[in-house]
Amino acid sequence: MGVENALFNQIQALAALEDGLDMDFTGTQWEAEWLANNKVCPCKACIIARDCLKLIGELEAAK
Ligand SMILES: [Zn+2]
Repeated sequence: MGVENALFNQIQALAALEDGLDMDFTGTQWEAEWLANNKVCPCKACIIARDCLKLIGELEAAK
């Protein structure tokens, strides 16, 4: 596995992170809670994903 492959895997992981963040809960049992929370998903996975994306953004901005 070369450097390009590792980078590609990281980009894919990042895209998955963004895709999985704050899903549309319309029509699900979590809809009311989700709407009350400004359409921000309160689950642990989203909180961690949000932190990761923020950190990555800060690192990118600092370059
Ligand atoms: Zn979530």
